[in-house]
Amino acid sequence: MQNRIGHGHDIHRIVDGRPLILGGVKIDAPFGLLGHSDGDAVLHSICDAILGALGRGDIGKLFPDTDERYRGADSADLLTRVVELMKGASLCIGNVDVTISAERPRLGPYRQAICARIAELLGTNAAAINLKAKTNEGLDAIGRGEAIAATAVVLLVPAA
Ligand SMILES: [Zn+2]
Repeated sequence: MQNRIGHGHDIHRIVDGRPLILGGVKIDAPFGLLGHSDGDAVLHSICDAILGALGRGDIGKLFPDTDERYRGADSADLLTRVVELMKGASLCIGNVDVTISAERPRLGPYRQAICARIAELLGTNAAAINLKAKTNEGLDAIGRGEAIAATAVVLLVPAA
């Protein structure tokens, strides 16, 4: 197997009354993200990027939101399943680059914790994970604080 690249994008609507989980880390905020699972747009974008690199479709195909087993699912568990597929293809993480688009809350203080958690889930070290957090300059649904989005690019390399 040669090096493989994949891209993932995800967006979830902001709602009251749910915990905000991004990159597998609980973020202190008065709102969370709506979704069949815990709504972790960061882990979902990474799942899709890995699945894309593997040529295995997307997260919706693997874990359909019509399937009650995945209601309220911990996205860390979903990513763990995707990592097993990656290992089954004799590939491992080269590096991951993630951008979170969120008008609020400020994510800078969580950057290190999120990178560490993503690295742990992917079975790699934190130096392989780059995380950028941006606002949307007040524009569109993200800028109005109605949604949070994440984009991820991963490079998979042959497992040693
Ligand atoms: Zn999602």
